[in-house]
Amino acid sequence: TEKYDKGLKKSRKTFGQRLNELFANFRSVDEDFFEEVEETLIGADVGFDAAMRIADEMRQEVKLKNVKKPKEVQNVIIEKLVNLYDEAGEDENHALNIQPNDLTVMLFVGVNGVGKTTSIGKLAYEYRMAGKKVLMAAADTFRAGAIDQLVVWGERSGVEVIRHNAGGDPAAVVFDAVKKAKDEHYDVLLVDTAGRLQNKVNLMKELDKIKRVIQREVPAAPHEVLLVVDATTGQNAMVQAKQFKETTDVTGIVLTKLDGTAKGGIVLAIRNELHLPVKLVGLGEGIDDLEVFDPNQFVIGLFK
Ligand code: GDP
Repeated sequence: TEKYDKGLKKSRKTFGQRLNELFANFRSVDEDFFEEVEETLIGADVGFDAAMRIADEMRQEVKLKNVKKPKEVQNVIIEKLVNLYDEAGEDENHALNIQPNDLTVMLFVGVNGVGKTTSIGKLAYEYRMAGKKVLMAAADTFRAGAIDQLVVWGERSGVEVIRHNAGGDPAAVVFDAVKKAKDEHYDVLLVDTAGRLQNKVNLMKELDKIKRVIQREVPAAPHEVLLVVDATTGQNAMVQAKQFKETTDVTGIVLTKLDGTAKGGIVLAIRNELHLPVKLVGLGEGIDDLEVFDPNQFVIGLFK
């Protein structure tokens, strides 16, 4: 909760605080009031459809409950925002799919610079601190920098990294990693992959090949295919998510740099328009600034 409070500071200014001011300064709950609410939500990147829907539901609820004071509308909107998040999902579960007594394999996809390596490193650290045996695979062999970066995170988190030279076959790296993880009874294998969206067909083939290699050892894996997107890029993050969804079976989103954006509403837009659960959020650059996404804490954090 403390991390949510700190990480949502910027979003709170444009979102919760603006709404709070609106609630405090408006005299009556009339059509002007609802239009201001809509504008504020759109400004926070909640998305046009979601903003309209929330405002409409508020109009109904306010009538039904006979709410007269703008200040009293606050609870209605908090409830609507959390509901919107939960309803939009095909499944209600935003927890990661962890195999309690077996190897869990997670693939990470996403374009360069979004915070993919950082998120993998943070998660590796978290699992290691929880006493799990963790391994990372540097399967983004396209860029030498990506391999080095993961190795740095390996040192930081105290987790071993399986790597080949740059330019090598990503599936060969994954083959070595999954074999070791299986033979030596690891709990978690986190796989970094390349994210070259400009060459969709190749990317699709590469990810398929990686999946096949994993499934030879662990038929039910990968247990998660997590798409990492940068919250500060706003609508561009939405476009990327759409494109990746067409390329591979994404099971969830890691939304990074929420601390760096005033437009935290993007969480709701992703859920509402793409039906993908946000599973993890990045709330800072530090090794423990990665949190499991909790819609309740998120929405309440926006209004603190
Ligand atoms: P990659 O190319 O996708 O692997 O991206 P990196 O993991 O190298 O991250 C790119 C930059 O984003 C780095 O400077 C990270 O420190 C920064 N970053 C990643 N996640 C977060 C986050 O949640 N909050 C903030 N403020 N910065 C982040």
